[in-house]
Amino acid sequence: MHATTSTGVVWYRQVSASNAGIIEGIQVTPLAKVKAVSAYACDNCWRMSVHTVGDQAIRNVLDAWDTLNKKCPIANKRWGLEHPDLPGSKDIALMKKLGIIPYMQTSHNYTLGIGWLEYWGKDRANKSIPNRTLIDAGLRPSGGTDAPVTPYNPFLAMWVDVTRGTATAGVLGKDQAVTPLESLRMHTIWAARGLMMRDRIGSIERGKYADLAVISDDVLAIDPAKLKDVRAEMTILNGKVVYRC
Ligand SMILES: [Zn+2]
Repeated sequence: MHATTSTGVVWYRQVSASNAGIIEGIQVTPLAKVKAVSAYACDNCWRMSVHTVGDQAIRNVLDAWDTLNKKCPIANKRWGLEHPDLPGSKDIALMKKLGIIPYMQTSHNYTLGIGWLEYWGKDRANKSIPNRTLIDAGLRPSGGTDAPVTPYNPFLAMWVDVTRGTATAGVLGKDQAVTPLESLRMHTIWAARGLMMRDRIGSIERGKYADLAVISDDVLAIDPAKLKDVRAEMTILNGKVVYRC
């Protein structure tokens, strides 16, 4: 449902003055198909996650799921939206009601922010990926990178989460910054929750898989400006060392 955020072509409810005249997002997948696929997934107890960016795309999927929820409950089955970058307040309320996981790739800001300024204008670019608002609304966003659209380095993603810095567009949406602990949770335990694997991964605890990394710095204590320079020194997968620098 999302077209491509890198060129600003996503499905909006409202055209902003700054992107008037630029190609707008158009609907390719009919809503009837979204509804039919969603009903089929729910009937078969499948989890569903849909790629969205623009607020109109987000709303249409959520409205379809809200209707479906009355016949086939999806609430708290961890259905998700992939990079719902531009949600409105009603969209966020629907996500909360339906227990939707917002899979947020804040690294989009890093690589795509400069294009957003050009295509969307500063106001919309600043509102994109509102992690602070999502968390304050009681949602538990899952962190990711969307690589290869953005670099896959999770510490760079944490740096963007916390500082809202970008590669070449300055700081975007400073008021949407999250704390280092919230960012760490987004990339670990909240991501595991989204996958319904919280009992096996996402934290270092007795009884969980021995999947962990030894990293160069304490991400909760260092200057947030240095988060992007953190490196993995050792990676252990299922109890075996698979990487050592
Ligand atoms: Zn996508």
